Amino acid sequence: MAIKYVPEPFRIKMVETIKMTTPEERAEKIKEANYNLFNLKGEDVYIDLLTDSGTNAMSQDQWAGVMRGDEAYAGASSYFNLVNTAKEVFGYEFIQPVHQGRAAEKVLFPTFLKPGQYAISNMFFDTTRAHVILAGARPLDCVVAEAKDPAKRSKFKGNMDVAKMERLILEHGPEKIGLVVLTITNNSAGGQPVSLQNAREVAALCKKYNIPLDIDAARFAENAYFIKRDEPGCENMSIKEIVKEIFSYADFFTMSAKKDTIVNMGGLIGVKDATKNAEIILKIK
Ligand SMILES: *Cc1c(COP(=O)(O)O)cnc(C)c1O
Repeated sequence: MAIKYVPEPFRIKMVETIKMTTPEERAEKIKEANYNLFNLKGEDVYIDLLTDSGTNAMSQDQWAGVMRGDEAYAGASSYFNLVNTAKEVFGYEFIQPVHQGRAAEKVLFPTFLKPGQYAISNMFFDTTRAHVILAGARPLDCVVAEAKDPAKRSKFKGNMDVAKMERLILEHGPEKIGLVVLTITNNSAGGQPVSLQNAREVAALCKKYNIPLDIDAARFAENAYFIKRDEPGCENMSIKEIVKEIFSYADFFTMSAKKDTIVNMGGLIGVKDATKNAEIILKIK
């Protein structure tokens, strides 16, 4: 595939100096860290590929928003601005800001998952996997087989294997499956996208067995772009329409705002139907 490179339509205006290290120093630091990258000090890392979380540069309008922000202790206008924008983009009735994606999972997952239960995902991200386990439940990955073949070219390698998902539900019993998490894009499978058709099928199965569906939405905008580019019948939809439609299939979303929404800290919980989920909303609050 020919890739067209477009010059960046922005200027970068801030500089942060970082420490340069020699290969010998790096080898020593890694050894001292017992080869566990989480034990390294941030200041010793020249190029940090551990995560994409919060590594965005914010725009001048975003920084201006911070300065103009209304920090009133209650009823702040910046709060309503955020919540109303999120309601409009995702079409959900209830929005709860949290400090980052993993906080959203920490709050929402235990409301569905009890010890002895299972959660199914096209593939759990490391933090969602951890929060399933912390709630006492067990995570089951259910991605399509081609996701595990890096040499194979295929459009939506992040998809849920829907036939396997139904087999897992029947094998464990629908009442044992506390939650289904659809990760868009599927970050742990190399950031591969999920199709609208797949989201529709996953939602139909969840409905059939009465299992709540959560979208793990860190890269929802990029996922929508892949749908527009590659999914038959979606080429004339706008990104906004695709986002609205894919979110309409789920009941909840948990989102890291530190990826596609380009802030360096933040996250959201969304509840589509506030009336039906009044009890869950009370727990979230
Ligand atoms: C980054 C990420 C998270 C966790 O979000 P943080 O804001 O880093 O806590 C959860 N799920 C996916 C798919 C992510 O990419």
